[in-house]
Amino acid sequence: MGKEKVLITGAAGFLGSHLCDRFLKEGYEVIGMDNLITGSMDNIAHLMNREDFEFYHHDVTKYVHIPGELKYILHFASPASPIDYLKIPIQTLKVGAHGTHNLLGLAKDKKARILVASTSEVYGDPLVHPQTEEYYGNVNPIGPRGVYDEAKRFMESITMAYHTYHDLETRIIRIFNTYGPRMRLNDGRVLPAFIGQALRGEDLTVFGDGSQTRSFCYVDDLVEGIYRLLLSDYAKPVNIGNPDEITISEFAEEIIKLTGTSQKVIYKDLPQDDPKQRKPDITKAKELLGWTPKVDRVDGLKITYEYFKSLDREKLFQTEH
Ligand code: NAD
Ligand code: UDP
Repeated sequence: MGKEKVLITGAAGFLGSHLCDRFLKEGYEVIGMDNLITGSMDNIAHLMNREDFEFYHHDVTKYVHIPGELKYILHFASPASPIDYLKIPIQTLKVGAHGTHNLLGLAKDKKARILVASTSEVYGDPLVHPQTEEYYGNVNPIGPRGVYDEAKRFMESITMAYHTYHDLETRIIRIFNTYGPRMRLNDGRVLPAFIGQALRGEDLTVFGDGSQTRSFCYVDDLVEGIYRLLLSDYAKPVNIGNPDEITISEFAEEIIKLTGTSQKVIYKDLPQDDPKQRKPDITKAKELLGWTPKVDRVDGLKITYEYFKSLDREKLFQTEH
């Protein structure tokens, strides 16, 4: 009997490429799909010669066709960092709406189970802290971040509708800030921004007064959570993230210590609607999946720093994708 097949969208991105690695390791045949709008073939170059991996260069907002059977679909295609989705807002809305619709249709056709990548951004600038899955969120639909937040909220909604009306097996993960090797150095997210600045000998740019908080999860922990949720029988959203909360100012100091840079912190304007605090309540993940994060920030940051240091200097100074 042949291997079971998994389709992973967003496969050339940060998280998608790690998922390809994990599912290949688990013995599945993997089809990776990506239109490379924010991803890079470098992330999956090591897989291209494998017989159990196939790459489809395709935009999921267009009709998606896969020959043969499919066991699972993991829908991770979407711009994910604020500077990406502010640059390509319409594509962001389309991949959350049309892209998700296409993949749900494919899942229905193939009788496959589908897991969709939602986000802590569905909680917007949260008024409840830490955020539980029951919280409906505080999102400004017409603010600059609305294109991402509302695309993901629509994605959750249409996914639940397919579950309810078509009996489709669906899983929804709400991912909190995740970091690790294969993030794009110039994607604007705080960790690559700070490490890139330290490596280039620039000052670290903290937005606002730096009192806003985030909770950073190492990629291997996230992938384990995704894997467990996919194999579970739970269809409602589940938070996966590391509850170890830190202010952005403290985070900048950690990066200064890690990199040994002699640069200082400088303060810039806080972007509109930037959430003031974010920390996952992971009670559900613990109880339903037996999942907790294992990698401390200090260890995860060391691995990630080594990765960024290993990149060639050309990438370090690249400003455009
Ligand atoms: P990423 O930008 O590295 O990867 C996204 C990938 O999707 C890229 O390779 C991009 O080219 C591809 N893509 C975008 N639009 C597409 C389209 N229309 N058709 C085909 N491919 C398309 O981002 P990431 O951090 O790996 O995020 C992956 C997913 O996880 C996203 O859905 C994101 O919303 C979600 N997520 C990530 C985080 C995080 O901290 N990294 C947090 C919450 C949610
Ligand atoms: N941030 C910062 N300096 C930067 C990039 C980001 O201070 O160079 C801040 C940003 O305003 C936010 C936090 O770091 O408060 C996390 O930003 P990121 O873009 O990584 O993720 P998100 O806001 O989506 O959680």
